[in-house]
Amino acid sequence: MAPNASLLTQLRQAVGADQVLDSGDLSAWELDWRRRWRGRALAVVRPGSTAEVAAVVQACAAAGVAIVPQGGNTGLVGGGVPDASGTQVLLSLQRMHRVRQIDAANLTMTVEAGCVLQAVQQAAADAGLLFPLSLAAEGSCTIGGNLATNAGGTQVLRWGNARDLCLGLEVVTAQGQVWDGLTGLRKDNTGYDLRHLFVGSEGTLGVITAATLKLAPQPAASTTALAACATLDDCVALLTLAQRRLGAGLTGFEVMGRFALDLVARHFPALPRPLPAAPWTVLLEQSDTDSEQHARSRFEALLGDALEAGSVQDAVVAESIAQARALWHLRESIPLAQAEEGLNIKHDISLPVSAIPGFVAHTDALLQRHFPGVRLVNFGHLGDGNLHYNVQAPAGADGTRFLAEHEHAVNTLVFDALLPCGGSFSAEHGIGALKRDELAARKPPVALQLMRTIKAALDPQGLMNPGRVL
Ligand code: FAD
Ligand code: ZN
Repeated sequence: MAPNASLLTQLRQAVGADQVLDSGDLSAWELDWRRRWRGRALAVVRPGSTAEVAAVVQACAAAGVAIVPQGGNTGLVGGGVPDASGTQVLLSLQRMHRVRQIDAANLTMTVEAGCVLQAVQQAAADAGLLFPLSLAAEGSCTIGGNLATNAGGTQVLRWGNARDLCLGLEVVTAQGQVWDGLTGLRKDNTGYDLRHLFVGSEGTLGVITAATLKLAPQPAASTTALAACATLDDCVALLTLAQRRLGAGLTGFEVMGRFALDLVARHFPALPRPLPAAPWTVLLEQSDTDSEQHARSRFEALLGDALEAGSVQDAVVAESIAQARALWHLRESIPLAQAEEGLNIKHDISLPVSAIPGFVAHTDALLQRHFPGVRLVNFGHLGDGNLHYNVQAPAGADGTRFLAEHEHAVNTLVFDALLPCGGSFSAEHGIGALKRDELAARKPPVALQLMRTIKAALDPQGLMNPGRVL
């Protein structure tokens, strides 16, 4: 019998023969969203329940076979696809997409890990409630993947990242035991908070099978505006003013550099661009428990004052939900336009908001000096101090070749420039395979030692997503 034949038989018994795929075109699971990593799985296994996940993990643990958990396969750091060895089991959570419970009075919902983020938002909305996590991949990423990567997105400013929205978890451990930590409690100080170990662990400590999430009342009104700014200092001044005026009502503050929006115009020419091109365009969103009218007039007053103070050159407030959607669509189209333009070096850095203008001026100049002609697709969540400071090959150059030759040097330049500001080289996408060596090189030795100790304690066989993170 082939070495893995008995494991495959056990897996088929555990989840049903048609949910174990080991032939045909498996690229939906083996090739990542950016098409940078193509692996080969021993098999793609699609359990339909927590008990089935536990059975799969037990069988793999007994056979000494590694597992790569996967949700929507939208991760950007090569963490969710198998390696090329053909020896790893790809465990897809996609069939586990039930909403188990919504507790409106407690403002919580419990969902299975494979629920697509947009379906989670919709289920909350259908109950008159809000699940605020939102990102451009929400039509295909899963809540399990969001939690495993501690995803951020566009609403972090007001609601926090995935970690902040998670109250409880159900996890299948590396040994195949089920930990039921699905609590909806806001306050629970009974020992170590295990949920925080698994959130952000990128599939290296266990498999998240369900989560209890925090909800909020739906806002009565939400308005969106665009503002054109001459400098990043002006964008920061606008942020300060908006925070002072709107308080918790300010739910989004995104910045888009001129080249980022030019790429959207080039690749999606049908999208309206309501303001003339400016060095920086800010998208602001305000959510309010009052009326739409009230929200809009607060926005108009804010932007009027910013225009007068000179921090804003031009502005437009959406007149309808459709217009607001169109403004968001511009912002969300940047990663897609960028992908159309060719492979690029993606960064998701964070630093104190106050340090951003100086960092960008300094690092832009350094990059131009060392890599003349590179194009900076700079956009991101300015309100969170998080930039997608992406570096695209010079016009006309081959992106794949540029990455092969310069990715490491560009990363070193950018990440070194973050050091004096106390920044982080990954604010949201995580480590995966892409940034593992950076983590090893840049984290303090004591932090790395603690991480390795946790990994060894929870996954002593090293079978959970090996080669990722650590
Ligand atoms: P996958 O890609 O399937 O997996 C990601 C990682 O989590 C892998 O390491 C995998 O092993 C692990 N994993 C997945 N499910 C589980 C589970 N159930 N248990 C244990 N481990 C698991 N991220 C942001 O933070 N903010 C953004 O604004 C943002 N925008 C994006 C825009 C686009 C267009 C795209 C393509 C991606 C974007 N991302 C963003 C990346 C982000 O990490 C993912 O979109 C999302 O959080 C991953 O979910 P997924 O279900 O696709 O996970
Ligand atoms: Zn982002």
